[in-house]
This record gives sequence, C-alpha cells and structure tokens, in this order.
Amino acid sequence: MSEQHKVHCDCGAVEVTMTGEPRVHGYCHCDDCRELLQVPYHSVLACDGDRVTITRGEQDTTEFKHPHKNMTRVFCRHCGDVLYNTNAMGWKIVSQLMFRKCNDDRLPEGFESTSHFFYGRRVIDIGDNLPKKG
Ligand SMILES: [Zn+2]
Ligand SMILES: [Zn+2]
Repeated sequence: MSEQHKVHCDCGAVEVTMTGEPRVHGYCHCDDCRELLQVPYHSVLACDGDRVTITRGEQDTTEFKHPHKNMTRVFCRHCGDVLYNTNAMGWKIVSQLMFRKCNDDRLPEGFESTSHFFYGRRVIDIGDNLPKKG
C-alpha cells in the first residue's frame, strides 16, 4: 500500500488525497503555469491523474478550464483555494506550498524539488544550487 498524504483548502470544505510519490517534483517556469495560476513559477508535485482524488467536498469544487490551454484548475467554491491543477497530459499537480501548508510546513522525503525546468521561459532568476533545465 502506497503512502497517502492529504491536503485541504483554506476553509476546510474540500480535502484531496495523494497516493504514492509524485512523478515530478520541482519548480516549473513555463508560461502555462504562470497564466493559469498567476504565479512567477509553480512549485509542483505532479502526479498521475488517478493518484490524486477528492476525498471530501467534491460538490464544493469548481473546475475552470483555461480557454485555450489544455489545463484546468480545481478550486473550492467557498474559499477559492486551488486544490490542484491539471496539465495537457492529464496529470494532477498539487503545489508544494499547498502541501506544506497542510503538513506542518514539511515535504516528505522524495518530494523535495530536484530541479528547475522550462527555466529558459522564466520571468525571475533563481539563485539556488538546483539544476536548471530547458
Ligand atoms: Zn475551501
Ligand atoms: Zn509549468
């Protein structure tokens, strides 16, 4: 049985459970994430679609599909907090910030960021020692 981790929105109505380890854990600097989420870069825990499930409050979620990108964000209709977003590959992506907020400000071993990717599309320079790709 794979390990499970839970995150919830700010108001607590919606809970999401992640099973197993994310496929990708790092910082994404692509313009898709930037436009979908209005962040300079996205701290991703990207999981296969079936590894992230809404385990409480599904009726309290709203899914917004971006008008021209094959991406959605799923958020709580009460507090507006984004639980996860999806990408063109159908992965579900939980932000590391969301994860930390709900898990004593910690990421489990194996979840820490290992690289920056789409770094060539960045809008902000990062001075850490992680590898910078793309
Ligand atoms: Zn909420
Ligand atoms: Zn991205």
